[in-house]
Amino acid sequence: MTQEHRPNAAELQVRVLGCSGSIAAGCRTTSFLVDADILVDAGTGVGDLTQEEIAGIDHIFLSHSHLDHVFAVGLLADTGLRLREAQKRPPVQVHALPQTLDALRQHIFNGVIWPDFTRIPSPSQPALAFGELAVGQRMEVAGRYIEVLPAAHTVPAVGFAITAAPHAPAWVYTGDTGPNPALWQRLTTLPVHTLVIETAFSDDEEALARISQHLCPTLLEAELRALGGDVNVLITHIKPGEVDAVMREIATHASARRVRALMAGEVLTITGSN
Ligand SMILES: [Zn+2]
Ligand SMILES: [Zn+2]
Repeated sequence: MTQEHRPNAAELQVRVLGCSGSIAAGCRTTSFLVDADILVDAGTGVGDLTQEEIAGIDHIFLSHSHLDHVFAVGLLADTGLRLREAQKRPPVQVHALPQTLDALRQHIFNGVIWPDFTRIPSPSQPALAFGELAVGQRMEVAGRYIEVLPAAHTVPAVGFAITAAPHAPAWVYTGDTGPNPALWQRLTTLPVHTLVIETAFSDDEEALARISQHLCPTLLEAELRALGGDVNVLITHIKPGEVDAVMREIATHASARRVRALMAGEVLTITGSN
């Protein structure tokens, strides 16, 4: 990425493309654009990007294999292909757990659901290249620092902490997760600027939240007890039509905290302070 796309190297810009648990008018599933070149999850929100913006994505980090998080990987590979070829850009790097990459190979890029974009237009210069992640791994991506965080979900899953510099305050995204003690253990020693955490169900559906390894407001409150009080907490993955009800329930539990619903289209600026 060129410097003009990232005018201030001391901060991260996180554009929320989608933060809903499903689709409906105005609701798009999970996807975040970090600066201009790193996509975190590839839900239906990717469809709001222009062709040029899609072609500018060099890295995709996937939290897990569920459709609402990987929906757009195959489509964006197709959209960006010609522009990236013309600009002689390398394959888009798709970073995920090995089980997530296997799921993509078997169930999406299998020649039935979608062509294998890890081999076209040519095996030597494909549109996509897959790279395996492991929980706890840290890597630098063109000046941003990414750590793979643990998640506890029905399929192998991770979250991510991203910073603009080593040891700088982090944007943390939990991915889809139920109760997750390993995450809180890690976050006690990580400076967190903003936490994006899921609350996929209301308290009425706590049993379903537990079975599907998601959170509801009661479970969320128990999770947040381990977090410092000065962190911005933004709630994601609420289902269409349930945002007000879920946020009211959260407010009864967590009124003292800086908690609000994440909104599609907003841009979070992660700086050296809160
Ligand atoms: Zn999921
Ligand atoms: Zn999901």
